[in-house]
Amino acid sequence: MTKTLKEIYSQDKTVISYEIFPPKDDENGEKEDKLFNELKILKNFNPALVSVTYGAGGSNANQSVGIVKRLKTELNIEPMPHFTCVSSSFANIRSYMTNLEQLGVKNVLALRGDIPEGAYFSDFRHASDLVSYIKSDHKLSAAVAGYPEGHIDSSSLEEDLKWLKFKVDKGADVIFTQLFFDNSKFFIFLELCAKIGIAIPIIPGILPVTSFKQLEKMTNLCRVTVPAKFLEKIEKYKDDSASVREIGVEFAAAQCQELINAGVKGIHFYTLNKSAALSGILGSILQRF
Ligand code: FAD
Repeated sequence: MTKTLKEIYSQDKTVISYEIFPPKDDENGEKEDKLFNELKILKNFNPALVSVTYGAGGSNANQSVGIVKRLKTELNIEPMPHFTCVSSSFANIRSYMTNLEQLGVKNVLALRGDIPEGAYFSDFRHASDLVSYIKSDHKLSAAVAGYPEGHIDSSSLEEDLKWLKFKVDKGADVIFTQLFFDNSKFFIFLELCAKIGIAIPIIPGILPVTSFKQLEKMTNLCRVTVPAKFLEKIEKYKDDSASVREIGVEFAAAQCQELINAGVKGIHFYTLNKSAALSGILGSILQRF
């Protein structure tokens, strides 16, 4: 049975979910089939939903919708498509949301998207505009993005939190955070959110690190602190992929365990379309229960 975000996150336990992305350059669908094989493995851990990214500007919109359909029909997993409003006309936004509703989708992650060169905006300049529209004109639950260390365009965390509260006031049901490695930053973020009256579930985003290069890339793309000891360890073994994977799994498992102990409603994993590292983390957490 399809569930809304409210229903999913009102359970009395920590639920898990995954983010996947439509594979690039996949004309014959081979990469997508591989992704579904990985998801079959990850399904064993009973995810509450799988979110599917959307290329800002709609570059992979059809592929995203195809994956959303397959998640429902082949794997019987609740999909949560992402959608970005940058460079999207009102007509396109309306028809995309209507299509999702007709497919039986219940939940959508409403985003602005990064602003590429030459981008244009319709009346939807921010994710908050999209949330308002979804809540007034469609029967969909809306999740939004949150940034425990502040969004990269924001002058400060406080400024960013002000706009996060604005999105929540427009009707967002759940916040999914950008990946982070330092739980203390997340716990401070939770406190600051509570202080300004944000009372919806805040779901931490966790990335299992599997390579030093990937870690470098992520930290360049977004504002995220990597604890010095973890960074040193990964850097020391950067040419030994098995050791990096082991260190990454161990780190993420400990990070998740602390979050679960703190009572988070859910953990959203950035899978990068792979199951191996994440299976290691989830196996390790389950063993410790
Ligand atoms: P907004 O909420 O609009 O915020 C953007 C910036 O503007 C922030 O600095 C904010 O403080 C400020 N702001 C917000 N509202 C206002 C306002 N009304 N007036 C003035 N300033 C305001 N990108 C993709 O392209 N595809 C994806 O599928 C995707 N998935 C993501 C999933 C998660 C969980 C996260 C955390 C991010 C994802 N992103 C994705 C990246 C995201 O699109 C970028 O971080 C983007 O730059 C901001 O999107 P947003 O929805 O947070 O924007």
